[in-house]
Amino acid sequence: MGFERFGTVSFTAQTKVDKFVDLLDEGKVAGTKCKSCGKTYFPPRADCSNCLSSDMEWFEISGPGKLISFSTLMYAPTGFEDDLPYTIALAQFGDVKIFGRMSKDLKEEDMKIGMDLQVVPVKLRGERVAYEFKKA
Ligand SMILES: [Zn+2]
Repeated sequence: MGFERFGTVSFTAQTKVDKFVDLLDEGKVAGTKCKSCGKTYFPPRADCSNCLSSDMEWFEISGPGKLISFSTLMYAPTGFEDDLPYTIALAQFGDVKIFGRMSKDLKEEDMKIGMDLQVVPVKLRGERVAYEFKKA
């Protein structure tokens, strides 16, 4: 297996990421699901690591999910300092676990493990898009 093959895989992965961003623009947070074995992935993957199939389809993450854990950051990586403090969280939506940020609308004292959350697309400065968790 040479770099030609590696490049093809990278390109496929990039295409999936582009589609993910397109879906965010449409107001959807989506993962991929293997059509062969049914395993679901978030972040989306182009290939199934369970059965090695590349026959994947997109599915919208629909809530509510459950908050598994969260942590409020007082220090951030370079480029994110202006956003401090913010809370990162891990939530379970059906078969997939999603890692992301809590909405600034949600106060830390209102966050509880096991609470219902929705994951929603958000527009950031510039043309950037992302997603965040809101109270369901
Ligand atoms: Zn599979």
